[in-house]
Amino acid sequence: MTIAILAMQGAFLEHGQMLDRLGVEHFEIRKKEDLDRSFDGLILPGGESTVMRKLLIELDIYDILKEKIEDGLPVFGTCAGLILLADQVEDGVQCFGTMNILAKRNAYGRQLGSFYTEDEMKGLGKIPMTFIRAPYIADVYGNAETLAVVDGKVVAARQENQLATAFHPELNDDTSVHEYFVQMIKESKTQ
Ligand code: GLN
Repeated sequence: MTIAILAMQGAFLEHGQMLDRLGVEHFEIRKKEDLDRSFDGLILPGGESTVMRKLLIELDIYDILKEKIEDGLPVFGTCAGLILLADQVEDGVQCFGTMNILAKRNAYGRQLGSFYTEDEMKGLGKIPMTFIRAPYIADVYGNAETLAVVDGKVVAARQENQLATAFHPELNDDTSVHEYFVQMIKESKTQ
């Protein structure tokens, strides 16, 4: 199994380190040619969604990735990556728009934007959650399903082969969310 990590901007290195710990092969997508390699899953990291969206389009990567996601490529978006997947974005612009969620950008405000908590994620129990100027999911509809709620706000969701978290699981020691994604990829191969 090989996972591609979008590495134009943001917290992509930490995802690679997580996958190293799980013994999963990975490589970075920085330019269009990198998409010539085959991969079984895609990680969209945290960072700045507006910058990532701009670079995806400028580097001619946007259309190819959107088609792959629509065709069922397993994808995991964290924080800004969640915003890239969202069908609707409040205070921002839709990017791939493949997931039936409404993302509210910078939802916790500038001062309260970064915090750590531990809370339940469906199927995983209590896990560490680090939020950095995070969005939250203000609405989940269609085939999307809520996986975690913190302080009454949805912070993780799944829709078929798409997984999104408002927090950054790659910044904590706990590997369970990445393991969950690896399992999603395995299951997608037997579908
Ligand atoms: N506020 C950022 C955005 O809108 C997301 C922050 C993050 O990824 N840590 O893209």
